[in-house]
Amino acid sequence: MENLPQLEPISLRPECEPGYQKESWKPTWKCYCCMDTGLVLDRLSSQIIPGFSSEKHKTLLCNASGCKAGRDKVSPTLIDEGNFDTRLSSEMCDRLAQMERKSWEDYRYHKHQLRKKALGLVEELAEKKSVRRVTRSAEEQERAEERHLDVVENF
Ligand SMILES: [Zn+2]
Repeated sequence: MENLPQLEPISLRPECEPGYQKESWKPTWKCYCCMDTGLVLDRLSSQIIPGFSSEKHKTLLCNASGCKAGRDKVSPTLIDEGNFDTRLSSEMCDRLAQMERKSWEDYRYHKHQLRKKALGLVEELAEKKSVRRVTRSAEEQERAEERHLDVVENF
């Protein structure tokens, strides 16, 4: 076998990286309509075009306000040749982006609630334990004082 130099693998997604914490993850893209690819997400396209299928229909070009991916990342030649569906207005893309953002926020909120609930249980347990510890040390204190009194009274 050839002695080839070895490379470290590069994770495809952040959740594949070691030490990754699910709860701290949030979307890194700016445009929720196209995830900064310039091409509208299939699931969003089907909200506008009933029965949309990326295999049968032209992909929608993102035209969201503030999103330049449609212009910067997609070849103008391919657009000019009519390979994409360019009918979406900025307003439509913005509405789709808003829907997508909301669903991500709901997802993150839901995850956050679950995490808070789990943390709450942990705290509750810790509190119970610490109360027991305080009780124990109070008892110990009492016993220590009794012993002290014994010593004083029997002096
Ligand atoms: Zn976009």
